[in-house]
Amino acid sequence: MKISPANVTFNPTGTPVSEDFDDVYFRDGKGLAETDYVFIKHNYLLEKWSTHSESHFVIAETGFGTGLNFLRTWQIFQRFLAENPSATCQHLYFISTEKFPIPLAELQQAIACYPELAQEANAFYEQYPQPLFGCHRLHFPNVTCDIWIGDINETLPLIYTPKNGLVDVWYLDGFAPSKNPEMWQPELFANITRISKQGASLATFTAASFVRRNLQAAGFVIKKVPGFGQKREMITATFCPAAADHAVNSTTNGIQEPTDGDSNNTVLDSEINTHRYRQTTPYFNRERVASYEKIHIIGGGIAAASLAYECTQLGLNVVVYCKDATLAQGASGNSVGGFYPQLNADPGVNSQIQAHSFLYAKRCYEKLAKTQHFGHDWCGVLLVGFNEKVQARQNNLVAKQQWPSHLIFPVNAAQASAQANIEIPYSGLFIPDGGWISPPELVQALMSAANATGRCEVRSQTTAKYFSHGTQKTTNMLDTLQLNDEPFTINANEAVVFATGHDTPELLGTLSPEFRLVRGQVEVLPPTNTSAKLATVICHKGYFTPVVNGAHACGSTYSKNDTATDYRPEDSQTNLLNHKKALQQAPWMQEFSSSDKARAAIRCSTPDHNPMCGKLPDLEQQRISLNTLYKAKAAAQYPEGEWHKNCYVLSGLGSRGLTTAPLLAANLAAELAGQPLPMSTPMLDALMPNRFQVRALIRQQPKQS
Ligand code: SAM
Repeated sequence: MKISPANVTFNPTGTPVSEDFDDVYFRDGKGLAETDYVFIKHNYLLEKWSTHSESHFVIAETGFGTGLNFLRTWQIFQRFLAENPSATCQHLYFISTEKFPIPLAELQQAIACYPELAQEANAFYEQYPQPLFGCHRLHFPNVTCDIWIGDINETLPLIYTPKNGLVDVWYLDGFAPSKNPEMWQPELFANITRISKQGASLATFTAASFVRRNLQAAGFVIKKVPGFGQKREMITATFCPAAADHAVNSTTNGIQEPTDGDSNNTVLDSEINTHRYRQTTPYFNRERVASYEKIHIIGGGIAAASLAYECTQLGLNVVVYCKDATLAQGASGNSVGGFYPQLNADPGVNSQIQAHSFLYAKRCYEKLAKTQHFGHDWCGVLLVGFNEKVQARQNNLVAKQQWPSHLIFPVNAAQASAQANIEIPYSGLFIPDGGWISPPELVQALMSAANATGRCEVRSQTTAKYFSHGTQKTTNMLDTLQLNDEPFTINANEAVVFATGHDTPELLGTLSPEFRLVRGQVEVLPPTNTSAKLATVICHKGYFTPVVNGAHACGSTYSKNDTATDYRPEDSQTNLLNHKKALQQAPWMQEFSSSDKARAAIRCSTPDHNPMCGKLPDLEQQRISLNTLYKAKAAAQYPEGEWHKNCYVLSGLGSRGLTTAPLLAANLAAELAGQPLPMSTPMLDALMPNRFQVRALIRQQPKQS
């Protein structure tokens, strides 16, 4: 999982060269012309965009490198939109992969050779992702760029692909096969097949015979055309499995051997296991493609607001139903919250959800802050190593070096004190991009931005009730919703999302996935002369913010299965005592006395602390249909599972909503709009609302006697 940066030098003409691969990123002085010729012209992009029948178009690339191909494609797409304002295709997804990300300064130097790309490039540099394994979704006007960092043969299998495929066009870049045989592996061709839509086209600068043969075996019909500049030939291809089968089986396929020295026969054609392989999902098949026009979002907190924002950005219409007179009256109503990811030493799926959510949320909030006001400060978050056990855990995280050094790094007591601007007599970990945010203001800002699109309506004081038709249900019957006790019809092209926080279990009743409700009380503490200087959020067992609106926020108590929100003086005592005990060597912390100003709210969490995000499962039916899940050996045998039609859940965000809501919402919005998802399949599975039941069904495997 650890990502190494590219080792780049520049040759005398200023072209970037990879020292690791002994190859140039693009042709000396002709990079742009080569991109235009090989990838744009030979994928017939302008013609395809003009006739594309969907609102979005998907290009995938092997090897992001300097981003030249991306920036040029984006620029040409913008020109296309300017000239064809009524084209059906209005949005471009550019999905790329990169094993060795180029450090930003070198990437800027490389792209500086092409001043005509300056406008796109400058916008791109602002969002250049940290070197973390997995998908980084970057939003630009009319274009979304997903950079999957990691070896392509590890990342492509993680891209969720609907049954009809995902990708319209491929750019096969990635250094010459002779210089980079590890990339051009059987898995690469198998995954290209898995991800391609029928009729997808492909272009590559190489004409190596094994590339042609493997593409053919993978279902592509190949054509050789003159190469760029000195290069005699290059390949274009179309994904058309039936025709390619014929070509592979025929003895004379009419293709000449290449003459450019790119040949590499180490990959056996027979190893390419064919275009019929599509499903990578564990446990059960579940199609995540929808194409709704309107989304009814029930809820009024960070999950609902983030979803409204993300849906409207994708062109979906939303109506938000909030049971209270104003938004953010539940767990999102605390005046200040810490913003940071919870990372383990090993980057398992839970930590990946946290890390990617955090990085996405930061980009989202920075963009939002350009047009909307919400209280926040990216002042960093200091995770204090306040006892030996925590220090050992932190040392382990540092030793394993799995996280980008800018995301989280160790500090000794002196450095911790310097960051915090107050004495911190402990070592710790520092998260420089973290900080604090005012959740109610953020919710309002997200909703205002959603409203500004003209596609969002908020209906306050609207209480929802939900009923399933259960076993009475016919295939096309939708479940029933009541709003303020009036029946509400869910149309077939509309979806309902329960973003209802701690109300979710009650609202869904026996249909509800498993949640855990936890009461948390947060203190509002007036500062002392010393504590007023605190410059970062500090976290130990609880969190303690710098002074915001004249007070520190000091959280939080943690009372399981307690759903009362009354103020409790004894909780204030406990809360403060915990902070004093944890930071007992910090004299300034001992100066506080409790303030009797506090707010209690109920958080909705889950048994594994991951949120719930996805289709609402029909758990009763699935208990029967997935009963033999433990027997399934291969993806093809996994049953489909039953779901409450047109119903989704986005809940269980616990105390981490500020961190996780934006990416979860982006993922769900993309699912509802039938667009590419920004999360890997293991992350999607870890968030599935039926996961606890599925795990239980798998565990029931009879013991071998
Ligand atoms: N398309 C790029 C551009 O516009 O600048 C140029 C791509 S460069 C020729 C090839 C890229 O593929 C390099 O950035 C290299 O690090 C990347 N690459 C090589 N092997 C890879 C692998 N196994 N997985 C992912 N990326 C890889």
